[in-house]
Parts: sequence; structure tokens; C-alpha cells
Amino acid sequence: MKFNTKTIHGNQQHDPSTGAVMTPIYQTSTFAQSSPGVNQGYEYSRAANPTRTALENALASIENGTHGFAFGSGLAATDGILKTLKAGDEVISMDDLYGGSFRMFTRIYQNFGLKFSFVDMTKPENILEKITPQTKLIWVETPTNPLMKIVDIKAICDLVKGKGILVAVDNTFASPYIQNPLDLGADLVMHSATKYLGGHSDVVAGAVVVKNEELAEKIHFSLFAGGGILGPQDSYLILRGIKTLHVRMQRHCENGMKIAEFLNNHPKIGQVFYPGLENHPNHEIAKKQMRGFGGMVSFNFKSSKKEDAIAFLEKLKIFTLAESLGGVESLANHPASMTHASIPAEIRAEHGITEDLVRLSVGIEDADDLISDLENALK
Ligand SMILES: *Cc1c(COP(=O)(O)O)cnc(C)c1O
Repeated sequence: MKFNTKTIHGNQQHDPSTGAVMTPIYQTSTFAQSSPGVNQGYEYSRAANPTRTALENALASIENGTHGFAFGSGLAATDGILKTLKAGDEVISMDDLYGGSFRMFTRIYQNFGLKFSFVDMTKPENILEKITPQTKLIWVETPTNPLMKIVDIKAICDLVKGKGILVAVDNTFASPYIQNPLDLGADLVMHSATKYLGGHSDVVAGAVVVKNEELAEKIHFSLFAGGGILGPQDSYLILRGIKTLHVRMQRHCENGMKIAEFLNNHPKIGQVFYPGLENHPNHEIAKKQMRGFGGMVSFNFKSSKKEDAIAFLEKLKIFTLAESLGGVESLANHPASMTHASIPAEIRAEHGITEDLVRLSVGIEDADDLISDLENALK
């Protein structure tokens, strides 16, 4: 199957008990057994639930993996991966990454004896100097949040091949419509399904997909024994979201490009961060690795003034000032005081997350209306 068919049919079957075309919401915690240990494949919903299973199969299909896992949030999915490590293990992470991932690494797992180093992976060779015999995991995020840096996933995987180090990719910003990290050599792909997979800003969820039996057992154990599962209602919503992922993403990409070009030509705008623009420092890797450039666009102001960013954000009418991304509606965000407030100010500054930086999640409305909204707010 091609991607646009997989989103709808990949690993799916009509409900075996009734023929229901869409998987029902199995709102049950437990399943009847005819004799102790004899059941129809389900025992207790933390271990498995049919609605979650349908979603997990869909996730595996769209990420070209063998096993998918649905967690209660994107961070629960990241947590589920880290729980497969043990004290003393080392993780090398991208330096420009989702604030909540950074917070979990440094304020939870560091206390449990995992060690983290943060490097700029846009130069893949930077990871080599951090590798030790204890290195067990490379954590890649691409495109990065909020600066849209692109990491060459295949180059990273090639560098660590045969070293017993796993590569995990946070694929939230791209979505599987744009790139499939497992095909590029990664071992694990993680999603905040809250974003493009769900696509309607109505559910918080997370996903992990792998392509290897042994790793699948570890992640399932982590999900089952750690308990961070996604419930049946929310599994249903993500499953429904995935069925339109390809049509939504096509429009997100078209609108994202139009808005990036509009901003790039606007006299009040400083730098625009969008991998589809030729002036983006990683444009060549983006063209090679991605099948589209997505709907996330960041920019700063020529004036470099925080007040200009704030005034602009207050004036927007169609774009909603809110955290999160990847929904059908356009959102605007001020990373320094919203999504990235948990990153210390000096580290933010070091990484270019300036006070005048604005991040847009471009939705699937009419592009002309979105551009007029931006134009008015800039005036
Ligand atoms: C939102 C997000 C997360 C965290 O996901 P939640 O569903 O909010 O827990 C992780 N990584 C990226 C890139 C995100 O945008």
C-alpha cells in the first residue's frame, strides 16, 4: 500500500464481532475468561485493549514499523523509551529540543542516574566526541522546535551503526507523511500524537513505533509495567485523526510554504525559519530527507524587540495564541514565555530562542485569509 491508503486501511480490519467499519470504542477495563487463563486475546486493558490495538497497528503501518505503542501523552512515550535504560547509561540528545523532553531528561532521569549530553546534531560528527562505552541512546528531534533545524537522520544512524547504540527520533513536527525515520535506519520513532496524528486539538496522546521484535518487547513491557497507556476513547480519536493525515498534511505543507514566503518578503521580519526556504541553512538535507516541509514556521523581527512580538501576537484574529501545534486551526506561540519557558533563559539565548521569536503552526484554513491576518497584525 502507498501512504495515502495506509492512513485509512493500514493493518486495519473491520470489527470481528459485528463488522463495524470503524473500530468501536471498547470502554472496558477487563475481559471475560471462559476458564482461568483462557480468553479471546484480551485480559485487562492496561496490557491491551482492542481500540488501542487498532491504533497501534495503524501507527506501525504509517511509520513502516512492525509494532506500534500508544501512550497517554508524547512525554509518556518518551518516558516509556527512557525506562528501557538503566542507571549509568548515557544518552546523547539534540541540543535544540522540545522543552518538556529537556525537562524530563534533566530534572527526572538525571536524578535516576542516566547521563545526558546535548549536542548540535546538524553537524552529525559532533556526536562522536560524546560517545562512550556507556552510550546507549541517541535522541534526535528533526525538524527541531522552535528553530526548525534539520538533522540528517541517516548520517547519524550510519555513524553509530554496530556500536550497540539505539537511535530514537521525535518525529512529531514532520509526521509520517513527511518522513519515516525507521526507513532511514532509526530504531525507534516517537510522536506526540496530540499534534498532527490527532490533528484536531482535542486529545493528548503519544506513540512509539519500532521495527524489531526484541525492542518491541521492551517497549511493551515499559508501557504495560509502567502504566502510561492511552485510554480507548483517546485511542479512537487518534485512529480517526490518522485517516485524514495525508490530506491535512498536504494542505499544511502548501500553506506553510506560502506563509514562509510571505514573511520572508516582509520588511518588518528579520529571519524566517522554514526548511522549505532556500536560505534555510539545512535546506539541502531537508530536500533529501523530507517529502514536504510541513506547517511549522518560526520567525523573528527586524527590530529584535520583544514588544513587537507581543503586540503582533495580541493583534492576530484567525491565528489563536496558544501552545501546541498540528491541528486544523492555525496557532501562534511565543516560545520564550510559553512552550520553552522551562528552558533556562541563558540556554534559550545560546540556542537562538530569542525574546522576539514567534512560532506559527499553520493550519488548513484558506491561505489568503491567514496571510491577511498576519499582514494586519504586522501593521
Ligand atoms: C508536544 C511535543 C511533545 C510532548 O508531547 P505531549 O503530547 O504534549 O506530551 C514532544 N515532542 C515534541 C516535538 C512536541 O511538539
